[in-house]
Amino acid sequence: MIRLTNTLGGKKETFEPVDEGKVRMYVCGPTVYGPAHIGHARTYIAFDIIRRYFEYRGFKVRFVMNLTDVHDDMIRRANEQGITIFELGEKNIKLFFEDMKALHIKPSDANPRVTQEIPEIIKAVQSLMEKGFAYETDDGVYFEVEKFPDYGKLSGIGHRKGRTGTRVDTDKYEKKQAQDFAVWKKEKPGEPSWDSPWGKGRPGWHIECSVMSSRHLGIPVDIHGGAVDLVFPHHENEIAQSEAAFGTKPFVKYWLHTGFLNVEGQKMSKSLGNFITIPELLKDFDALAFRFFIASTHYSSRINFSKTEMEKYKVTLGKLNEFIKRLQEIFGGEGDLKSVERAIESSKKHFVKEMDDDFNFPNAWSAIFSFESEMNKLITEGKVGREEAEKALAFLKEINSVFEVFSFETQAGLGLEIGKRIAERETLRKEKKFAEADRIRDELKAKGITLLDTPDGVKWRTENR
Ligand code: AMP
Ligand code: ZN
Repeated sequence: MIRLTNTLGGKKETFEPVDEGKVRMYVCGPTVYGPAHIGHARTYIAFDIIRRYFEYRGFKVRFVMNLTDVHDDMIRRANEQGITIFELGEKNIKLFFEDMKALHIKPSDANPRVTQEIPEIIKAVQSLMEKGFAYETDDGVYFEVEKFPDYGKLSGIGHRKGRTGTRVDTDKYEKKQAQDFAVWKKEKPGEPSWDSPWGKGRPGWHIECSVMSSRHLGIPVDIHGGAVDLVFPHHENEIAQSEAAFGTKPFVKYWLHTGFLNVEGQKMSKSLGNFITIPELLKDFDALAFRFFIASTHYSSRINFSKTEMEKYKVTLGKLNEFIKRLQEIFGGEGDLKSVERAIESSKKHFVKEMDDDFNFPNAWSAIFSFESEMNKLITEGKVGREEAEKALAFLKEINSVFEVFSFETQAGLGLEIGKRIAERETLRKEKKFAEADRIRDELKAKGITLLDTPDGVKWRTENR
């Protein structure tokens, strides 16, 4: 039974999906006006782990992330670069997918783009107009917040009376209240636009997620996520316009929000020049070490990126990988299967208990660390043979299907291959075919793998270790 903290209501709730055994998950994607940064990486890795955990628990997940390719920032940046927003979007979306892949984030099942959803967005705006939730002004179509009594239920920031400012030009028809927000923006010179019942224009920001989420996942979705900065106004507005336009409540069952990532104690911002893009990060740190850093912090906690912190996580992950390698190097011997199975069972239970409890990443890691020390103890006691080592490795693979941080596959592949050669060499030595046995050792040596004959059996080292 998974429990999670729903931002709507602020309480821990038991997860009950709309469709048994399935999870419909929507995460607000990036505005693709520039390269993605490590703040995006934080949020998307955290949701990747949550998604993987649902899969680990047997749910079938459908995961959708939108790409905001029409936006004020897009228009500004495209103009600066002398290209269209379409060219700018194309370029950055390609980079975004590369970055997500480099970070081992599972691909989404769909990545709808605003530019490809305009007719649907217009339909939603029309529906708001027909139902009396929106009105037209000189510069756009606005959602009238006052008409939606539930406004504020997510963020606690409810109805606020207040005019837009002093009305200078009395002939101009402006928005009624400052809190009203644009669902359609009428064309300004030099801006991309589409035909609509209100003349040429483009969608407001919030409406896109209402439309894409309902179109690609239905209503309600189980989980709608983003970082905490989106709670207000973005998600508050999404609720208002979706529940108003589609007439179905709720629009989302569980709202999940990740904490913000700061860099060396400061908010990332253009003025401070402390933006770290994902390729910049990956020049200094391994993607898996960064994932480990994110995976070690509660998804909802604020997180501070610093190079010194990262170094620590790198070292700790290195030790865990050493532990994996230690298991992979056990090629023979009798062990105590019962003890190892007991260690696995209790660690698994601990891991699941913590992850079921609002995806408590850091506590889940304590289950893994105690497994490591328990196993190391059993190894020292001579209770781990090949069979036991394989069981332990299979368990760590299971964990890794959720966190995806261990350098497992390459080592396992290598370990298996070397293990086979070592076993062959041992047989030859038993048969006193020493020349042939030495040939295997030399062959491995040529590949940079050194065999060490130790009292605990044969071990191997690669040269770069
Ligand atoms: P944006 O590209 O700014 O529209 O943001 C896309 C997603 O990344 C949203 O879910 C944001 O909340 C999230 N996000 C942006 N900046 C950060 C950050 N510094 N830390 C964590 N999440 C972020
Ligand atoms: Zn959104």
